[in-house]
Amino acid sequence: MSTILFDTPIFGPVHSRRLGVSLGINLLPADGKVCSFDCIYCECGYNSDFKTKSKLPTREEVHIALENKLQDMQANGPAPDVFTFAGNGEPTIHPHFAEIIDDTLALRDKYFPNAKVSVLSNAAHINRPAVFDALNKVDNNILKLDTVDEDYIRLVDRPVAKYSLSDVIEHLKAYNGNCIIQTMFLKGMYKGKDVDNTSDNYVLPWIEAVKEIAPRQVMIYTIERETPDHDLLKASREELDRIVSLLKKEGIYTTASY
Ligand code: SF4
Repeated sequence: MSTILFDTPIFGPVHSRRLGVSLGINLLPADGKVCSFDCIYCECGYNSDFKTKSKLPTREEVHIALENKLQDMQANGPAPDVFTFAGNGEPTIHPHFAEIIDDTLALRDKYFPNAKVSVLSNAAHINRPAVFDALNKVDNNILKLDTVDEDYIRLVDRPVAKYSLSDVIEHLKAYNGNCIIQTMFLKGMYKGKDVDNTSDNYVLPWIEAVKEIAPRQVMIYTIERETPDHDLLKASREELDRIVSLLKKEGIYTTASY
């Protein structure tokens, strides 16, 4: 399996389908994956396959590496469109996530004031005030909500600790529109169960929740690279377009990556 793990706190820039020229920031260990979900479609692989005892990069290490990289990019290009917190797992797990966001916003203002700061998060920790507030400061607060079916979340996203979907939705609403919902649509089988979430039994209740959350955007996407489970399939362009049009009817700005 070709798994993508990033071996430095700063990686790229890479061209992202959704975000443009993106400088990546990985707050997880270089040699493993750490996430509070264990999604069966994760490009980093299953948590159990990439266990690590390495420490997370410190706030200072991230600051130094980011400033060095920005100085290099200022001298040699390219200019980033966006700084993206992603990497080997869930960035908000880092105990100094909030301070690192403040450092990053300050460095962005100093070197590339036109660039955006994006965070891709599974939203499992937005009940922590420091995480909630830090995400509220960034330009693109991109939070996962794959479905509103608890059983499906336990089968496909597989939270590794206590997880309350209703609590997550309440906190998503508390952003008062300052968030982007990201949702993976996929098909196929996992452990003998159908994981197709493109049908109306999944899509319609999810749209009702999205309407209540009232995000400024919804990003839907599907599998792009190899996944740890090999019986998963991409959602088709037509299926994604159908979901986009349903959301558009509700007046919700939505983009799809195929
Ligand atoms: S939330 Fe993201 S990083 Fe975590 S397991 Fe799922 S896809 Fe992977």
